[in-house]
Amino acid sequence: MGKNKSNIRSWFLVIFFVKHLVSMIRKQRRPWPSSLPLELQSLEMAARLRVDSNAISMASTDFGKLSRVIPAAVLDPLSEEDIVNLVRFSYASSSVPFSIAAKGQGHSLRGQAMTQGGVVVDMRALNINNGRINVNGSANLYVDVGGEQLWIDVLNETLQYGVSPRSWTDYLYLTVGGTLSNAGISGQSFRHGPQISNVYELDVVTGRGEVVTCSRDMNSELFCAVLGGLGQFGIITRARIPLEPAPSRVKWVRMLYLDFSAFTRDQEYLISINGNGGQGMKGLDYVEGSLVTSLSPPNNWRSSFFSLADHSRITSLLETKHGVLYCLEVAKYYDHLTLDTVDEELDLLLTGLSFIPGLIFTKDVSYVDFLNRVRSGELQLRSKGMWDVPHPWLNLFVPKSRIFDFDAGVFNGILRQSSNLVGPILVYPMLRSKWDDRMSAVIAGEEVFYSVGLLQSSPTKIMHECREDHHLVLEEQNRKIFEFCEEASIKVKQYLPNYTTRAEWMKHFGPKWELFKERKNKFDPLAILSPGQRIFN
Ligand code: FAD
Repeated sequence: MGKNKSNIRSWFLVIFFVKHLVSMIRKQRRPWPSSLPLELQSLEMAARLRVDSNAISMASTDFGKLSRVIPAAVLDPLSEEDIVNLVRFSYASSSVPFSIAAKGQGHSLRGQAMTQGGVVVDMRALNINNGRINVNGSANLYVDVGGEQLWIDVLNETLQYGVSPRSWTDYLYLTVGGTLSNAGISGQSFRHGPQISNVYELDVVTGRGEVVTCSRDMNSELFCAVLGGLGQFGIITRARIPLEPAPSRVKWVRMLYLDFSAFTRDQEYLISINGNGGQGMKGLDYVEGSLVTSLSPPNNWRSSFFSLADHSRITSLLETKHGVLYCLEVAKYYDHLTLDTVDEELDLLLTGLSFIPGLIFTKDVSYVDFLNRVRSGELQLRSKGMWDVPHPWLNLFVPKSRIFDFDAGVFNGILRQSSNLVGPILVYPMLRSKWDDRMSAVIAGEEVFYSVGLLQSSPTKIMHECREDHHLVLEEQNRKIFEFCEEASIKVKQYLPNYTTRAEWMKHFGPKWELFKERKNKFDPLAILSPGQRIFN
């Protein structure tokens, strides 16, 4: 009996030892990083700090694949309290505080969610706590969501109650905290404003390690600072988002134009019929647009909208005509109550537009398929190994008064002369009055301005040719675009901004710079948070 017991104990010991060894090898444990104070290890939360090479390597890269920055550790927080304890520890540090970068989905382009030698907080770890998307009781007027939640999950959860948020991004596998730190724009922005205009309340862990609930009426300065604040003032742990009844289906329409002035005139007309506009019309729910060229084909990873026959019709038109077409894209939502009237309403809204006769294409899709339209392209690219490649994207806000100069100099100039373009180019207008200027986000200085997105990716193989340096060529193209705008005095603003010097940031923020700096001093005086934006570090 005694011998059996000791055999069992030995087996347990062997199993424990092997398990431990396997886990050590798997994690390739490294010694405690020298840039972090040793006392940090004494915190209970330190058990969730990872220094293994897997965690470090995941946290040192992002979607852009253009930067590599090595943190000392990664925190997998179990709760808001873990984040508070980490920030408080750094803030109270008698030596130099260590930096902390919240990382959502890591879909930044240039290291914005990274930190050299500091701690990356992997916000997605909070997601293992269920119940972090809560639709408000009986009225269903808002949803409380964790900052780490993906918009696709917010959509799916709220739809269970027949409601949904109203302002989106084109792609839904981004976190709430990540998009609210920028703005969150899409074809609904002209009508409802960006996502930052659609927030009731936030819980924020400031750079002092305080948890503050804020809204337009309560701690409004922090609320405005954080929205569009590039992670500089606090870590969003909860956002309260307004909801409205969700439609079930969408009429999704694309129209092609030869002429840029007709294309933009129609876009601007359509966004002017806002809400209950003229003649009792309710207006469209979504307006975007894009360029179609041989290097930016009508179907691309963002959505394969056109049938094969339509696709070849459009590409042959491209070859015979200009080489550049413009594609206006709109959507009208409907449900069983508006099923009988939606076609008539849509016809009325599109009557008189100047697209090429016959080149109008309509699809009827579910609301979820419409909002989640980019996902299938992502999966296709992933399966071909073409998702995890460099993405030297360029996103700009261009004032309406200079959009023709931009078209001439960039779309029909720099990009026409190039043989390098690989990816969608978006062009669509928004209204400044739908943004709140007290918030940190920076936009172009006119009531109507255009969002231009050059969503270029740089696969290593292009048309069977190996092009390891392709992203450098695209970077050079981006540089030429900036140079052109500078020389032509087109006052563009970068969306998802990327600058390296203080002078560039000051120019970016313009009159908002002093307030931005003051708020930084107030909410994160030791410049602990989001150093990857390279504003204060
Ligand atoms: P991350 O890259 O992880 O973080 C971004 C910044 O926010 C970092 O500075 C980080 O420190 C900070 N941060 C992260 N979480 C928090 C938090 N909880 N609290 C405070 N700060 C935080 N944008 C649009 O507006 N519209 C689009 O249609 C759109 N489409 C996109 C499509 C694709 C395929 C990709 C890759 C990006 C797209 N974006 C779009 C850009 C996207 O909104 C931003 O890159 C956004 O930051 C990504 O969210 P994330 O969760 O990956 O954030």
